[in-house]
Amino acid sequence: MIDYHMHLENGPLTLEWLRRFWETAQKRGLSEIGISEHCHKFKEFYPMFAPLTQGTDSYPFMKEWIAKDFQLDLDHYVELLLAARQEGIPVKIGLELDYLPGTEDFVQELLQQYPFDYILGSVHVIGKWGFDYAPEVWADHDVNQAYREYYAVLASAVSSGLFDIAAHLDLIKVFGHQADCLFEEAVSLVLELMAQNNLSLELSSAGLRKPVKEIYPAEWILQRAAELDIPITFASDAHYPEDVGAAFDKLMSAAKRCGISKYSVYSKRQRNLKSINFELPAP
Ligand SMILES: [Zn+2]
Ligand SMILES: [Zn+2]
Repeated sequence: MIDYHMHLENGPLTLEWLRRFWETAQKRGLSEIGISEHCHKFKEFYPMFAPLTQGTDSYPFMKEWIAKDFQLDLDHYVELLLAARQEGIPVKIGLELDYLPGTEDFVQELLQQYPFDYILGSVHVIGKWGFDYAPEVWADHDVNQAYREYYAVLASAVSSGLFDIAAHLDLIKVFGHQADCLFEEAVSLVLELMAQNNLSLELSSAGLRKPVKEIYPAEWILQRAAELDIPITFASDAHYPEDVGAAFDKLMSAAKRCGISKYSVYSKRQRNLKSINFELPAP
């Protein structure tokens, strides 16, 4: 069992902090972890986000957030993960990368310079609006339109060639906003594009800790992914050591119910498929 989505951002970039994530992983019976820090923690990615702060249609909360973030150095991050591997921790070098239309070439060029094992693709921003920042930022937004636009951006994201894994596929539900319909066609299109582009689908327990109190993605989406033979990865999106591998028993039973049989592991951005062993005691 693996957990391919976690963040070190609430502590220092040190082996001591990283070891605590691995300790929880071991207690929960995981054999491999992947660290997937947000791209916007690193100064190298600032040029990609700067346009979000410009223009009369930019949001004050986005300006404030973007002015504060981007403090870390990507080299230090990669060096830390390589050092952890040196001391025997089975850790993959991941990155949670936002999809911002128009930045593809800049990002592609930057990614090539680092030995990433996998890239998680995330849509947290629609236009200049960071919709998952806080429930308050939804005040002037129409829920149906937000869902429609979210899945349109996601379709471009999974076709961009930048990503290996689609993270928290239905994140738009994070605060529990319900649209009038499921957007089945839009979601199916995203899944078909993922299958064509050999992306894996992240199965994440993070939503259970959010107002929506559901896993990502919803089981009907997981079922469609199974029909298209899309493999999954397992994810906690832990921001603290104690959340590594959290509620993976729920992820396992959802995968089993939906007919998912394969999960992916990655090395240097090459995918390897493995069979899920439902006989194992869930961590
Ligand atoms: Zn995310
Ligand atoms: Zn994350």
